[in-house]
Amino acid sequence: MFVYADNAATTAMSKAAIDAMLPAMHELYGNPSSLHQKGREANYALIGARETVAKCLNADPKEIYFTGSGTESDNWAITEAARLGAEKGKKHIISDTIEHHAVLHTLARLERQGFEVTYLPVHEDGLVRVDELAAAIRPDTCLVTIMFVNNEIGTIQPIREIGALCRERGVLFHTDAVQAMGHVPVDVEADNIDMLSLSGHKFHAPKGAGALYCRKSIRLRNFIEGGAQERGRRGGTEAIPSILAMAAALEESCAHMEENMAKVTAMRDKLIDGLSRIPRARCNGSAGHRAPGIVSFCFEGIEGESLLLRLDLAGICASSGSACTSGSLDPSHVLLALGLPHEIAHGSLRLSLCEYNTMEEMDYILQQVPEVVRTLRQMSPVWYRMLETMEDPYKQA
Ligand SMILES: *Cc1c(COP(=O)(O)O)cnc(C)c1O
Repeated sequence: MFVYADNAATTAMSKAAIDAMLPAMHELYGNPSSLHQKGREANYALIGARETVAKCLNADPKEIYFTGSGTESDNWAITEAARLGAEKGKKHIISDTIEHHAVLHTLARLERQGFEVTYLPVHEDGLVRVDELAAAIRPDTCLVTIMFVNNEIGTIQPIREIGALCRERGVLFHTDAVQAMGHVPVDVEADNIDMLSLSGHKFHAPKGAGALYCRKSIRLRNFIEGGAQERGRRGGTEAIPSILAMAAALEESCAHMEENMAKVTAMRDKLIDGLSRIPRARCNGSAGHRAPGIVSFCFEGIEGESLLLRLDLAGICASSGSACTSGSLDPSHVLLALGLPHEIAHGSLRLSLCEYNTMEEMDYILQQVPEVVRTLRQMSPVWYRMLETMEDPYKQA
């Protein structure tokens, strides 16, 4: 059996996305800035895509800027919010310890440039606390940037309350909603969001297309210098086929949000229930505030990398944390932020699902993972050391 369970790293393109993209590749090759008919044709398509994306967010099309990725949107939003703050002498930013590196590394650069950043801790459940955020806001705070859904453990932060607090205190609020868009309801008005990053390839659109939502009242300046594209705010000829595919994929995901959430949640809960039966296993992140598709576990006494390789041989594509940290041997900053010791964080497994997965696949995962964990433990010196101080959970009674 083959199972793709790494949808938080990237997703397969949907038929809706491909159906929007292919004709655009054939026909809509005009440059939307050109005045002739081919240009106009491309420009009309672009206008339509912007309206579609805006509608899915409950935003105005004028508030949508197409970018090349979620990473670019994060960089742009945070850098601009900081610049606007500095103009008013405000150089303090609040974020948290489990953000994506697109956010954390942008903040690190701002720190080198003289900004001060407060990183709120997350509790054991992977959530920030709104009262701790309230206490951290200062008169010179210019930006709060807190992610909507965490890409490694799937926790959903209290975005609406955070937004309301920021609005009340007059601080800009940006959220990295890359794992939220198309997966859980997002409404920039109800959620009090000023800036929001999204990325197409996390909801069945092609790689290389993202968007930034930026509230009209914010005097956003361009991040990429060049032509007058995106109302002069982001130079570079628009990637029409990818943008159209992104709009089509998002529209479809939002139209089927409820049924997809129900389907994916049922599969996720089956996995959580089954994997929890493995001895010395722990499910990471809040049980109640969790995205439908993300499951994160730690298994004591084994290496996440070995687990992944074995699962790959069994046809299961999974991840140990985020795709960005795999390849490095450091345990994930997200798992460490939950307070897990290094040796436990090392034995992590992330399974991320989408509506294309099936219950049969969950059965297969639940048949494979416990077996592989057990086999790896039989070869693990760490596990044998643990057995010196505990009863062997595998010993037959
Ligand atoms: C994937 C991801 C990003 C980066 O998006 P790209 O389009 O791949 O650059 C940013 N934040 C989160 C939470 C993500 O999951």
